[in-house]
Amino acid sequence: LKSSYDVVIIGAGGAGMTAAIEAKDAGLNPVILEKMPIAGGNTSKSSSGMNASNTKFQKEQGITDSNDAFYEETLKGGHGTNDKEMLRYFVDHSADAIDWLDGIGIKLDNLTITGGMSVKRTHRPSDGSAIGGYLVKGLMENVAKRDIPIFVNTDVTKIHEKDGVVNGVTAQVQGEKARTIKGKAVVVTTGGFGASKELIEKYRPDLKNYVTTNQVGSTGDGIKMIEKLGGQTVDMDQIQIHPTVQQDKGILIGEAVRGEGAILVNGEGNRFVNELDTRDKVSNAINEQSGKYAYLIFDQGVRSRATAIEFYAKQGYVTEGATIKELADKINVPASNLENAVTSWNQAVATKQDTAFQRTTGMDHPLDQANYYAIKIAPGIHYTMGGVKINTKTQVINKENKPITGLYAAGEVTGGLHGQNRIGGNSVAEIVIFGRQAGQQAAAYAKEQK
Ligand code: ADP
Repeated sequence: LKSSYDVVIIGAGGAGMTAAIEAKDAGLNPVILEKMPIAGGNTSKSSSGMNASNTKFQKEQGITDSNDAFYEETLKGGHGTNDKEMLRYFVDHSADAIDWLDGIGIKLDNLTITGGMSVKRTHRPSDGSAIGGYLVKGLMENVAKRDIPIFVNTDVTKIHEKDGVVNGVTAQVQGEKARTIKGKAVVVTTGGFGASKELIEKYRPDLKNYVTTNQVGSTGDGIKMIEKLGGQTVDMDQIQIHPTVQQDKGILIGEAVRGEGAILVNGEGNRFVNELDTRDKVSNAINEQSGKYAYLIFDQGVRSRATAIEFYAKQGYVTEGATIKELADKINVPASNLENAVTSWNQAVATKQDTAFQRTTGMDHPLDQANYYAIKIAPGIHYTMGGVKINTKTQVINKENKPITGLYAAGEVTGGLHGQNRIGGNSVAEIVIFGRQAGQQAAAYAKEQK
């Protein structure tokens, strides 16, 4: 670890590694500092995919989409509270981000949908595997290929500033004494605070007993450090609850399971919601059921299309029955109700009309291929929509609404883009789109500094 770099990047999740690659490709000398023993952050855990509109992969597959539709549906999902300038930049640069990834060997050509979208806009790896592991591996290979230094077990505790200009950080490499690392520009990509009991309780005391799907390093460090520099925060109380979380270890059951056709039933074996409504609505509906839990119900067809299910099965989360009745008995719900639920659902699929709950997506296949499966789930803390305020150049904005010179941020540490509710697949898009922008902007600024 040298004492000075062009661009100091705090946090080695998707946003940080993307920014580093762009800064390096702009001819500069970046460094990535990561407090955990491994890179990847929450990005490693992401499962849905990356949303983008008007992409070459959509066109190849005959899917008609537009940036405006992506914009409108994201705005609707966020209840109209999204930062509109950020959102516009986001949708307009989404297809380019897909191309950029493809150009560095990260191919996302397998399309699906998540809650709150009308067309297949969620891009996944070809084999349908979870995007997180695939993306992190691809980004790490690119970081290594470019000889970008990355230091793990390196906790950044402070961002330095002189006369309003950011110029470095304090970092503590494990077991060593804290030291100053100078940087012409600093990029904060430390992720959210979904694993910080302290911050969750501060902003949302009602959520204090919820399990979290977040990795332990998501403790809002970047937000705290930026607040000390006078940075502005937005939407800090907007915390996304994911509707389908296996509760033992806070393992998120990806939206693709519903996207590929699963339904939700309550403890009585009855459907109770449009399973692919937005995350907040589905979570609320589950919390209204007796016991505040539900079961995802699906067949072998869904299991073969949503490959993440193999991972859930290995963890022991999937209950199996040769018939719906056998499955119902095993999970202890009334068999006749569950049989009715599946039969009515299959009718809805056949007629493309869900008269009970008006679901319109994820209904390409009936649930009729044995065996049948159930996963018990309940809502859990998943994502912190709020964070520091940035502009479309990813400059961090202070309380006087002015950029803090030399300071950039991207990814879950920032707030505003998603408003009050994030659409699944938009965070991966965010870290690539704004991670790229942060790397480019920080590099352009650093070049001007002597
Ligand atoms: P994003 O999706 O925005 O890229 P991630 O959660 O994937 O966010 O990555 C953020 C990374 O930043 C995590 O690996 C996390 O451990 C790391 N991190 C958080 N706080 C610090 C800190 N104070 N110093 C260094 N790294 C940090």
